Amino acid sequence: MSNAEASLEHLFRVFTMPEHKDSTLSQIEQHLSDNLSDFLSRHVVAKRTSLEEIEQDFNDPHLPSQPEFVSTHAEHLLEKLVTNSVNTYAPTFIGHMTSALPYFHLSLAKLLVGLNQNLVKIETSKAFTPLERQVLGMMHNLVYEQSDTFYANHLHSAVHSLGAFCSGGTLANVTALWVARNTKLAARGDFKGVSKEGLVAAYKAYNINNLGLICSKRGHYSLGKTVDLLGIGRTNILHASVDSHTLDPKEVLALGKAYQAQGNDLLAIVGVAGTTETGHIDPLDELADVAQELGCWFHVDAAWGGATLFSDTYKPLLKGIERADSVTLDAHKQMYVPMGAGMTLFKDPAASTAVRHHAQYILRKGSKDLGSTTLEGSRNGMAMMVYSSLHVLGKSGYQLLIDQSIQKAKLFAEMINRHPDFELITEPTLSLLTYRYCPARVQTVLQSGEYDTHVINENLDSLIKAIQKQQREAGKSFVSRTRLGINAYPNECITVFRVVIANPLTTVAHLNDILEEQVKIASKVPLLNTLMTCIESVDHVTA
Ligand SMILES: *Cc1c(COP(=O)(O)O)cnc(C)c1O
Repeated sequence: MSNAEASLEHLFRVFTMPEHKDSTLSQIEQHLSDNLSDFLSRHVVAKRTSLEEIEQDFNDPHLPSQPEFVSTHAEHLLEKLVTNSVNTYAPTFIGHMTSALPYFHLSLAKLLVGLNQNLVKIETSKAFTPLERQVLGMMHNLVYEQSDTFYANHLHSAVHSLGAFCSGGTLANVTALWVARNTKLAARGDFKGVSKEGLVAAYKAYNINNLGLICSKRGHYSLGKTVDLLGIGRTNILHASVDSHTLDPKEVLALGKAYQAQGNDLLAIVGVAGTTETGHIDPLDELADVAQELGCWFHVDAAWGGATLFSDTYKPLLKGIERADSVTLDAHKQMYVPMGAGMTLFKDPAASTAVRHHAQYILRKGSKDLGSTTLEGSRNGMAMMVYSSLHVLGKSGYQLLIDQSIQKAKLFAEMINRHPDFELITEPTLSLLTYRYCPARVQTVLQSGEYDTHVINENLDSLIKAIQKQQREAGKSFVSRTRLGINAYPNECITVFRVVIANPLTTVAHLNDILEEQVKIASKVPLLNTLMTCIESVDHVTA
């Protein structure tokens, strides 16, 4: 098919004419809505395996000079892009927090683009603004459980906000700590506040050297970006309880006091409800006490684990979250909403006044424009996806989804424990666990405690890395990998497989297949021989 000519007529058609029913794009659309999994299994086939090869398809820096027919372009997308993307819907794709979505989101996405609302201001969103405020209210209610009067007073108040909607957990963390910073370094005396005068003047006015943030070593990397952006500086992230996956409140208190005694102050303690790597939950209730004693903000990063609150069974694990000054939630994780749905929730509906911004043409004083307290400007109506999911699935639907994910993760942990050649590294608190391949013989040698484990672990690391890569490239299933410091091996990090059970359609049979595939790959990797030779020599030395 030849290129379309650059005529206004052609361009107007792009704006006004629906695609012909037989066109490639219409066929794609039809296939997607008729049978998404069939579409994915037919088209997302990883035609090329290496990224370098794929880069060759996207190697032209020249702007397309002439318009193209939509159909021509759609064929190009199918061939170059879709085939080599990742089937995150596959039930054997259990390596990351991105998973299958309920099918109705496809149609809703079309509605969203069709309406193209901009939530920054009421003039471009109208009903979407109250809708977003209601969604924030619902999620606030899930976390803080305030009275009906409380919500009646604050849900649509022009001078309050129960939270801020944003594109994800990263921006939610930034927003929360931005509010915390401006609250901590608020105007006093002649000082007009950090928001107006900046950090240098603020530190002077408050007579401090630095502001610090305490979190565990499992804190999400977005916290590093946040303190960087807020001018606090990455060296002022204080990692407490470095020998553990979770924070020890006593240590946090001691660390915080020592830091304050050096002429510094604390911006916040950040507790994580479901760490990204291992799914651990900090002792939130006790950390709330510590934050109170240290006089600092308490933020809970519940981007992944927040949805656990839907489950009456597992909700107690997050006890104390209701005492946090702010909470991060990601609806695009365990709430099965498409990406771009993060939220910060504030305990105090007046908290976001600390970052409120006004402009003349929009966001005028007294207006209910959401943009006056969000970091982002133009923003789409993703809140609708959360709203619809909450309605279609309901609290009890979410409870079922959360419960079955955690139960499945626990079953998988048992399967790993039972298997002679695998080692469970971290138990699933939520639906996340880590483990590694470690032949029974090697486990015995490691556990004997008679050898320098370092060499053996290094060999295992390479082996696990190779298995993970080959499994990914084979394209049937996917687990991710990370490096963790664990108590069994102080002063070293080991490479582990990381599994996130999120897709409701993942079965125990799938999990079993994934383990069997790993055993099979391992048996063919030359590294296994290297490892066994290493073990023999160790045996020999001690014999
Ligand atoms: C995923 C995650 C984030 C970051 O969220 P994005 O939506 O990827 O920006 C932050 N914290 C935790 C604990 C997470 O799991």
